Amino acid sequence: MESQTTQLCDQSAMALAGMLRRGEISAREITQSVFKRIDEREKSINAFVTTTRETAFKQADLADAKFRQGGDIPLLTGIPVAVKDILCTKGIKTTCGSKILADFVPTYNATACRNILDAGAVLVGKTNMDEFGMGSTTESSIAGPTRNPHDLERVAGGSSGGSAAAVSSGESILALGTDTGGSIRQPSAFCGVTGIKPTYGRVSRYGLVAYASSLDQIGAIGKTVADCAMMLNVISGHDPLDTTSANVKTPDFLKALKEGIEGIRMGIPQDFFAEGLDSRIKEKVFEAVALLEKNGASVVPINLPHSPYAIGAYYLIATAEASSNLARFDGVKYGFRNAGDITDCMEMYLKTRTKGFGMEVKRRIMLGTYVLSAGYYDAYYLKAQKARKLIKGDFDEAFKKVDCIMTPVTPCLPFALGEKMTDPLQMYLVDIYTVSLNLAGLPGMSLPCGKINDLPVGLQIVGKPFDEEMILRVGAAYERLAAAGR
Ligand code: GLN
Repeated sequence: MESQTTQLCDQSAMALAGMLRRGEISAREITQSVFKRIDEREKSINAFVTTTRETAFKQADLADAKFRQGGDIPLLTGIPVAVKDILCTKGIKTTCGSKILADFVPTYNATACRNILDAGAVLVGKTNMDEFGMGSTTESSIAGPTRNPHDLERVAGGSSGGSAAAVSSGESILALGTDTGGSIRQPSAFCGVTGIKPTYGRVSRYGLVAYASSLDQIGAIGKTVADCAMMLNVISGHDPLDTTSANVKTPDFLKALKEGIEGIRMGIPQDFFAEGLDSRIKEKVFEAVALLEKNGASVVPINLPHSPYAIGAYYLIATAEASSNLARFDGVKYGFRNAGDITDCMEMYLKTRTKGFGMEVKRRIMLGTYVLSAGYYDAYYLKAQKARKLIKGDFDEAFKKVDCIMTPVTPCLPFALGEKMTDPLQMYLVDIYTVSLNLAGLPGMSLPCGKINDLPVGLQIVGKPFDEEMILRVGAAYERLAAAGR
């Protein structure tokens, strides 16, 4: 039974997994609690494009049957998970927040979705997002904006804003998000939850609708570091269906949490704490670093001298890849088609894409097409690739001296809805601390490190390629120390 004070939907996944194992609660009760919260808050938050209430209860009952049977049951069994609407779910609408896919129902599951369902997760629904993942606020969705559960007049961040808001509000326990330039970490920071973007190649991208294929990565959002580690265990691993998925062993990420931070060297990039960063955020991040230092980790100043080129390189490479990836939405293969009032095929393409895509997506397709066009390719696309290499080189150099790197996630607090919608450049600049990790393929995690005026602040921990264990270990240590107030 739920206690009056703490509802099941406010518990962490690991706490619920424990209660399920001890027979104190049922998966049905957890699911009921989550949907009760959805009934109470979804109208104002708008975290979901689609909820899957009926199948969720069926999955919960199946989980309960497994618990009755006993045996070795995955930790994710019976735990509600929300999935970003850019991941294909068999038989369930997958819109990518776009009119062009408003009625698209995939015939297969993305590998990450299949993995969580095989592990017994209860699918709560598909979460809201910026159209095709292009944005930092979840305002550019056909489903309307997602609001920040901490302040309904502010943005939830994006593009996985629905996933972060759902976990933050108790409308789900865990969520899958995707991160091309910050889309897991930034909304996690804005909504006060924990989100990890794994190393490029750690999680299969099969069934993830591509935005920028060399940058996209699927990851986990939860209330705690352990919750993220638990789901990361389930979604990681080599997949022959994704040729970029890495053939590396998946460690037990939960094990990493127990190790301490004695002797861990934390790099502090001097270039990241300069002009443009809200000084109150800087203070919070430094406080977190100081806490870890006091408890056995050491601080090493580092430089990432090419980071001023990260935003430019990212927005050239991401748009170039997007312009190519989004060519498949032509009104023929799937999704929306403008069928009436046309005389030939070209006109059908034109009208379908004109009506099917939103403003920001069109802006990026045009920008991407431009930077790839003959005569401009060398000046823009190639140059951006060179910058990408230099940015990666900076990290390689830094990681010779440190075990992890500590930075802010965002330069500012969650801002008001609509505040940056008319100024794309201002919007792009919000991604300053997140995009370089995608360019370098590195893993990164955002976790809450306090509040300013009741608004959450995120701390970013960056790791070496395929060293998510280090990030999780440092993150878990911080979580423990902060909770104990030491
Ligand atoms: N805000 C960035 C963009 O608009 C990142 C988005 C993402 O990670 N999907 O491209």
